Amino acid sequence: MENEVVSKNFIEQIIDKDLEDGCYDEICTRFPPEPNGYLHIGHAKSILLNYGLAKKYGGKFHLRFDDTNPTKEKTEFVQSIIEDVEWLGAKYDGEVLFASNYFDQMYEAAVKLIKKGKAYVCDLSADAIRQYRGTLKEPGKDSPYRNRSVEENLDLFERMKNGEFEDGSRVLRAKIDMASPNINMRDPVLYRVAHMTHHNTGDKWCIYPMYDFAHPIEDAIEGISHSICTLEFEDHRPLYDWVVRELEYPHPPKQIEFAKLYLQNVITGKRYIKKLVEENIVDGWDDPRLVSIAALRRRGFTPESIKMFMELVGVSKSNSSVDYAMLEYCIREDLKLKRSRVMAVLDPVKLIIDNYPEGQVEYMDVVNNQENEALGTRQVPFCRELYIEREDFMEEPPKKYFRLYPGNEVRLMNGYFVTCTDYKKDENGKVTEIHCTYDPETRSGSGFTGRKVKGTIHWVAAPYAVKAQVRLYENLVDEEKGVYNKEDGSLNLNPNSLTVLNECYLEPALAQAKGGDSFQFVRQGYFCADTKDSAPDHLVFNRIVSLKSSYKPGK
Ligand code: ATP
Ligand code: MG
Repeated sequence: MENEVVSKNFIEQIIDKDLEDGCYDEICTRFPPEPNGYLHIGHAKSILLNYGLAKKYGGKFHLRFDDTNPTKEKTEFVQSIIEDVEWLGAKYDGEVLFASNYFDQMYEAAVKLIKKGKAYVCDLSADAIRQYRGTLKEPGKDSPYRNRSVEENLDLFERMKNGEFEDGSRVLRAKIDMASPNINMRDPVLYRVAHMTHHNTGDKWCIYPMYDFAHPIEDAIEGISHSICTLEFEDHRPLYDWVVRELEYPHPPKQIEFAKLYLQNVITGKRYIKKLVEENIVDGWDDPRLVSIAALRRRGFTPESIKMFMELVGVSKSNSSVDYAMLEYCIREDLKLKRSRVMAVLDPVKLIIDNYPEGQVEYMDVVNNQENEALGTRQVPFCRELYIEREDFMEEPPKKYFRLYPGNEVRLMNGYFVTCTDYKKDENGKVTEIHCTYDPETRSGSGFTGRKVKGTIHWVAAPYAVKAQVRLYENLVDEEKGVYNKEDGSLNLNPNSLTVLNECYLEPALAQAKGGDSFQFVRQGYFCADTKDSAPDHLVFNRIVSLKSSYKPGK
């Protein structure tokens, strides 16, 4: 890239200033997922941003589960989230942390606010609280319980904790300002009664803190310097600041918001994905057509490609959505020099070289990646009967078709020049075999310069090839129609999002491929052996991405 300027994003500028002003001794960031589902590409942005900042400033990065709401959370998600964070290469400092381990400190913090006259127990019902809150245009009204004495509040709050009251009967609220133009500041609820078993603390608690109260405390306890979250929390920032100020933390964390990552025509909503999983439209949360981190990994994306993508996208203060083609560009760029380029025939037809001795086989030395010598070479068998792609032959070619047709000569990549002499068809008119002759002078690597041909096609030796299933993917949703149906909000699914090819033939070297191994199949794209379904006697490859690109960086 010419004229590249290394400019800092707005978060880095804030951090630089804070360090200059001596606000913090060390930078500490965190990724705070709620363990209520699988992580997706949007979360990857948050993970890499937070981890990247900690690394850049020589600070720390925490992985903390925001598990303060026992209704939605499950332990099963904790493990998958840890796995995804580690796979992305975001190294968290110390142990995995849990917000629920701070419940005692949060309770103490609430008591402190009560003692300062900054919080009170309110007996209004949830509906009444809503009515008292007012609207964007009208100020709220004070709760009749707002002026309870400190002693009464302490007593009631303790009894809330001790389980004396029913769910929803009482809450603890901050005493801020019922006339604030920011509705979040109109005496927000800090604690509620909920007799529920928590995945970590069991039945110890029957009161649980609200997100806006818990989150700043979690950050402050851990010494987080910059609490980076997404834009929808911008209006909550005054409350965040209020909590850390009133609790008198010495180096209060600072909340900074950035825009969420959205991908065009891609489903990220948990509700929709859950439905697709339950209706068996996709093969689980890691179906390669989804953009959960588990799905991207299964499809064959690398952590490096996702990092590159996040760098290209950058961080911003305004919401926008990014073209999926940009993510595809990144995986192509990442794999280009790292992976071997092998021959695989996805839609096979036999090519028989009539003048090649029957039963003979020779091994061609083939460079694994012409752009990266370090990947070495391999040997590929060549013999009389090959498979080639059906689309590389035409009985009656149009103009500018340079591949095989009767009378035409092409190069077999890493092999010889062959000239088509004949072909056979079945009763339905389908071509069943193609005949040709080869010129022994033209062996690849022999330095033959006698003449040139315009077309080069790939092939595999029929008796040596390994059979595989190959899965081709397209967008899950119909891009023309957009993700959601305008009438009923359902998904506009693309009926062709998965194509399964059951009779593909690969070079014998691929028999060794293990789940997660990826390759370039020349002229086709990048493919990855499926981690769930591929086995030595039943190879299954997922197409990560084709070779053609509609995206150019900087355009
Ligand atoms: P979703 O509803 O999409 O699962 P969430 O916000 O409920 O997302 P959390 O577990 O609460 O999921 O989020 C953990 C962190 O990831 C938060 O800091 C959140 O702001 C961030 N995050 C979530 N979605 C995105 C996104 N699309 N882009 C960037 N960051 C995101
Ligand atoms: Mg959430």
